[in-house]
Amino acid sequence: MRLLVSLVAASCAATALGAQTNAERMANDRYTRSHDYDLIHQRIELSNFNWDSTSFDGKVATTLVARRAGLDSVVLDAGAKLAVKSATLRTARHGDTLVVFLTRPAAVGDTVRFTVSYHGVVESGRGLTYVNSDGRPHRPRQIWSQGEDDNNHHWFPTYDFPNDKMTWDLVATVPRGMTAVSNGRLVSDVALRDGSHTFAWRQDRPSATYLVSLIVAPLVKVHDTWRTIPVDYYVYREDSALARPLFRVTPDMIDVYSRLTGVTYPWSKYAQTTVADFFGGMENVSATTLVDWLPGPRDYQDRPWYQWILIPHELSHQWFGDYVTTENWANMWLNEGFAEFMPGEYWREKLGAHVAQDYLLDEYNQFMQIDDDHRMPLAALGSNNIYPKGALVLQMLKQYLGDRPFWASVHRYLVDHAFDNATTDDLRQAVLDATGENLDWFWDQWMYQAGYPNFTVTTKYDSTAATLTLVVQQTQQDSSKADSTGLKYTTPPAFRMPVTVRVGTEGRAGDVVARAELSRRQDTIVVRDVQRAPTMVIFDDGNAILKRLTFDQPTAWLAVQLDRDPDLWNRHWVIAQLGQRPNDPLAAGALAKAATSSDYFLTRAAAAQALAEFPAVAALPPLQAALKDTSAQVRAAVVEALGSVGGAQAATLARQAWTNDSSSAVRAAAVVAIAQTDSAGRRPFLLQALLIPSYRDEIQNSAYRAIARSGDTTMVDSVNAHAGDHHFAPHVLAALAARGSTRALGLLVNLLNDDRIGVRGWALEAFRFSLRREIAQPALQAARAGLTFDDTKKAVDALLQEWQKDSGGK
Ligand SMILES: [Zn+2]
Repeated sequence: MRLLVSLVAASCAATALGAQTNAERMANDRYTRSHDYDLIHQRIELSNFNWDSTSFDGKVATTLVARRAGLDSVVLDAGAKLAVKSATLRTARHGDTLVVFLTRPAAVGDTVRFTVSYHGVVESGRGLTYVNSDGRPHRPRQIWSQGEDDNNHHWFPTYDFPNDKMTWDLVATVPRGMTAVSNGRLVSDVALRDGSHTFAWRQDRPSATYLVSLIVAPLVKVHDTWRTIPVDYYVYREDSALARPLFRVTPDMIDVYSRLTGVTYPWSKYAQTTVADFFGGMENVSATTLVDWLPGPRDYQDRPWYQWILIPHELSHQWFGDYVTTENWANMWLNEGFAEFMPGEYWREKLGAHVAQDYLLDEYNQFMQIDDDHRMPLAALGSNNIYPKGALVLQMLKQYLGDRPFWASVHRYLVDHAFDNATTDDLRQAVLDATGENLDWFWDQWMYQAGYPNFTVTTKYDSTAATLTLVVQQTQQDSSKADSTGLKYTTPPAFRMPVTVRVGTEGRAGDVVARAELSRRQDTIVVRDVQRAPTMVIFDDGNAILKRLTFDQPTAWLAVQLDRDPDLWNRHWVIAQLGQRPNDPLAAGALAKAATSSDYFLTRAAAAQALAEFPAVAALPPLQAALKDTSAQVRAAVVEALGSVGGAQAATLARQAWTNDSSSAVRAAAVVAIAQTDSAGRRPFLLQALLIPSYRDEIQNSAYRAIARSGDTTMVDSVNAHAGDHHFAPHVLAALAARGSTRALGLLVNLLNDDRIGVRGWALEAFRFSLRREIAQPALQAARAGLTFDDTKKAVDALLQEWQKDSGGK
């Protein structure tokens, strides 16, 4: 699964039990569910979909094998709103379970078969989402399913936990003009007399039940292949021209992943289907579901997220998650960490090391933001950091082991658990089996415990002894507290890792490189044979450790490193140090050089960004030069920096970028810069920008942000005019209400009674996230009596109750 936003809290929110101490593995194993049968196959037949009542009819034939002697009944998960009409065996309902009584007790190994027919009503979003077009463009009527974590039992009775795999048939009869897409291969598509169609799909290799998928929508198929395997893209007819440019990377990605893992793509086809109002992407086995925001031709110069992350992320789940599946949700990082790691490896194969580092740098920033907010380990139930930390820890493991042993370990992991489940410790065992190395210490500190090392480094050069001594302190603090159940996540006081130090020296002596093992709160590294005074000292050459680094150095050393260090993380760390020295001409010179001539665009962009804090006289010449960069990302960073530098010349340059640049990202940055630098022209300009369409509404979003930031309450009505068609508009009203506009607050309250359910939702979200509670709470309380729609009333009550509970607890 991949969300649009990167700050992802796992949806599985059950309370964690027990202590995450050295018995971590045991603690995580306890989350695996027990059951007394082995699900073998289900045939799921669905028909009579009704968009008004969000209902359908279902018939499910189940085959399973008893695993307990004297098994006399079978307990399936089945949403309370699935009303059983008939069954071949006696059944009983208890909440969200269905009990099926066998006619006589089964022995271990006996096969049991039964069929249940039912009428299903779903609350949209639980299992199936019914989408009505609501008059909005690019949004045909459709249905899509979402199983992960445990929502599939709301549309068919099954065993809804990842530790039992089955095969299945999915047969759906859908209205005229619609297609049903599901897992596995298409067995038949039969037209009925009334124009409806029955599609029969068969998933004939076992996978987990949360990966059963169904999409019903008016779709066209754009066909591709990898070797002999069909690779299909299902999109709305109006998007058919956009599909191939976007998805055509898929066969090559399948090829690269098959080669890297040594496991050939394991399924009979791969479909990617786009749907409306989706949260991002979901790796349903052989049939991924994706959001319907296909980039247009111009968007490719901005490296669209969809192709950069979303497609390769979901595809890699076909191995990590679908082929080998986490045994329980406490080990979910095995699914998500690999899926977040693999796109970087694909881009490394295609575009080189810098691009892979670029990808990981983004993961690093996300990881730090999440960890700052709330620190949790990778392997823990409900862990908040399984995506970026998973990717970063796997990258560290790869650097530690080396490429070949790493991929041999991954291969071993996949092969040993093919079509089956795994836990975090199974991956450690796979590394041990493939390389002979027991990395229990690595697993303990990076998988089972939380946090990362905070290094503080100081150096001393002794010219007589020709030594450079580094004192390395680990200063991380374990400040997390036990929760109400007594669960506490620990941060190691000292991380054990090998580290490389590179010392640059003048003259022909060149670099001196030393390796050392860190393992204590304070370690001392003595680099010998440093004959001349250092010109540069790189701690952790190659960036092999996930860390924060405090290392005060002369500007001259940093400037040399920025020039010479190929590692992007190291460069960005150096840029951050230089950025804090705005009055140092040497720092300005180093950043100017990097902004205009560094060999990788991200370094140029970061250097340009850092120049924003420098005096105009130092910053403007390199920024103006960098505005001609071939990379849109660099130009966007430059324009953003111009906004901060300010002044007439910066304003003119920002205007030029707005008018002439073909990239939406650059123009979006120009919106902010112009709002910052041109207070007289700001209002008409922002109102114009609100009307400019762009991919993922980048320009409009930027305009909304600029209005919110400006606090200009004369724009309240203009913003309100867009409240029905733009997610950000209600948030901007909230921001302006927070600045004291009673009119904005009144309009926001009105939106709670808007006819469109989505708009009501946006307004409620704005109350929750964009207003201070002392304003939002009384306003909602006052509005409560005047609300017309039950769903909004319920949601407002829930929010008010939640707030009350919060303040009661403190
Ligand atoms: Zn995912």
